Amino acid sequence: MKQVYLDYNATTPIHPEVAAYTRQFLYEYFGNPSSMHWAGRAVRPFIQGARECVADKIGAKADEIIFTSGGTEADNHAIKGAAYALCDKGNHIITTTVEHPGVLNTCAYLESKGYSVTYLPVDGYGVIDPQDVKKAIRKETILISVMLANNETGTLMPIREIGAIAKEAGVLFHSDMVQALGKIPIDVNELNVDFGAFSGHKVYAPKGVGILYMREGLDIENLIHGGHQEAGRRAGTENLVGLGAFGKACEVVHQEMAENVGRVERLRKKLLDGIYARIEDVRLNGHPEFRLPNTLNLSFGFVESESLLIGLDLAGVAVSSGSACSSGSPEPSHVLLAMSIPPEVCQSALRMSLGRDTNDEDIDYVLEVLPEVVGRLRSMSPFYKRK
Ligand code: PLP
Repeated sequence: MKQVYLDYNATTPIHPEVAAYTRQFLYEYFGNPSSMHWAGRAVRPFIQGARECVADKIGAKADEIIFTSGGTEADNHAIKGAAYALCDKGNHIITTTVEHPGVLNTCAYLESKGYSVTYLPVDGYGVIDPQDVKKAIRKETILISVMLANNETGTLMPIREIGAIAKEAGVLFHSDMVQALGKIPIDVNELNVDFGAFSGHKVYAPKGVGILYMREGLDIENLIHGGHQEAGRRAGTENLVGLGAFGKACEVVHQEMAENVGRVERLRKKLLDGIYARIEDVRLNGHPEFRLPNTLNLSFGFVESESLLIGLDLAGVAVSSGSACSSGSPEPSHVLLAMSIPPEVCQSALRMSLGRDTNDEDIDYVLEVLPEVVGRLRSMSPFYKRK
């Protein structure tokens, strides 16, 4: 059976060039970078090289990059680290209702420790109004956290404007940029961010590596205590395989960005137009224009997304539902609910995210099987029959 992978926002396969480059860290360069001897000395330039490479691709300086275990750790480090460091100044944090759990649950944890969090609402496209951020700032506000690109809908937030507001108010600004890296150009200075979270496995590097961008001169509390690695900001022996791969992935993904983005955008449009032409009662969730080039989130009326996902999986197509499964029971997506989408429409949402290996045959195949699966499920729905 043909297999089609349309879940690149969940994770990406390792890029062949990244895999080839990384092999040396499994065998040849195995030393502990903290060791004084030849084996330790030999690996240190690779760490610096990866740091410079990642920094270059986001407009940062190498010293502003802290390697972490992933996007979640980077979010935690920035938010908890800033909250703890600034607790004498204030206890108020501003974020949005559509953030990734890496931000939302960190904020909820801080609330349980006495911090106060404002969750700003979004409009029907999933976008927040920068003026709402401005109005929410109080004298106790110590941090603003707004994601650049939403993982479920692909909608982009007005980060530059929010960054300017934060800067003017003298409030630190963190942005979860995990989904944007490699898909759109990022310059941390243009966007006025103080902290940025990134993850390797969304850009064709392995899982378990990420970075926290932290603006030069800032000093926040550490999340992980121990050795002196990462200039004393994140303890633990460096994940050489992961960070080496992340550096290489940033290089190759940015080399390929112009070509891949154009192709992926064309394929996404082909998929959407094809779906509209073949299936009725389909709704696009998220902003029609200000969005990632690779992400589609669609609701199919009278169909449960979990059944749709299973039906597509049986046909070899890997996608994701717009719902998060908690303890086995499918809950409507918090992102779609926050966009004031009715719960039954949220529960019929499907996320399809394309990537560098997606091709025309994949899209043709999905356009062949998706109408069949939707049609079969609708034929079993009493509500659809009565329509
Ligand atoms: N933030 C966003 C927007 C994400 O999409 C993800 C992963 O799905 C993360 C954070 C977490 O990254 P990681 O899996 O590296 O912890």
